[in-house]
Amino acid sequence: MKSVDKWIAGILAVLAVILLGGAVFQVKVAVDMRKEITALKEQKKSLKSYIKSEEEAIKLIESEMGETEESKELQDEAGQEGQEAEAEQEAAPVESNGRKVAIDPGHQGYHVDMSELEPVGPGSQEMKAKATQGTEGSFTGVPEYELNLSISKQLAQELQGRGYEVMLTRQDNDTAISNRERALLAADFGADIYLRIHANGSENPNDSGALTMVPSANNPYIAQLHNKSYALGEAVINAYCQSCGLTNRGVMFSDNMAGTNWSKVPVTILEMGFMTNQSDDIYMQNTEFQSRMVQGIANGVDQYFAAGN
Ligand SMILES: [Zn+2]
Repeated sequence: MKSVDKWIAGILAVLAVILLGGAVFQVKVAVDMRKEITALKEQKKSLKSYIKSEEEAIKLIESEMGETEESKELQDEAGQEGQEAEAEQEAAPVESNGRKVAIDPGHQGYHVDMSELEPVGPGSQEMKAKATQGTEGSFTGVPEYELNLSISKQLAQELQGRGYEVMLTRQDNDTAISNRERALLAADFGADIYLRIHANGSENPNDSGALTMVPSANNPYIAQLHNKSYALGEAVINAYCQSCGLTNRGVMFSDNMAGTNWSKVPVTILEMGFMTNQSDDIYMQNTEFQSRMVQGIANGVDQYFAAGN
């Protein structure tokens, strides 16, 4: 090789090294950036759920204190303007309609051991676990017990706004309370009706829509509650589906559930939708959709009582 050629070859070799080095560096930067984006996404997700749980905690505290941000502001304002103004500005208290509704948010946190057994109905030899774990969103990953509690709390607020006195069998996901105990709590409260709030799961991801379950006319424990329970289940499922638009699978009979068989008042389970179905699952986590679900259930309760039950 001539010395000029050697010289050119040398330059080319240096250039090749520089280019290769640059390419490797860029790939590394791209990988790092991707990692960072993934980490940021994770961070965003956990912040979102933190904010959500904080908001829920604030709502709970407010509802326990019996005042919303709005009413608090009104009261503050009224305080500045004197007693008379306060009386004028205070929101009129909701007039009681004399009805009591017990709501059971189905299941509880996975960490709560409910594996002990209890009779499936009064006097029965057949035993069942005190409570089961329920299903969860195949797409959203939200456990059923969380959805049940969230909807139940919203429903309690809606019904209170309509003049009902309302009791929830659990206020959090940590309470260990069996299906039998929940039904007895509802009776102790003096409930006129007992609403059990659940969501469905199926091995077939195409199964979708809502249904209610009530004791049949041949239920060995509470056959006497069949008629009114049926009227309740029918009113709730029809108003619910009309309001939120999910497929109406109608009223079904079930006689082997402790939470129903131990009830002393008309009772129905609402299976709000299938958490194993993509569209039901995603809908049921949508805030606007949830408010239509809650309105629908409350409309069904109104209609049940309006029909003379
Ligand atoms: Zn359930």
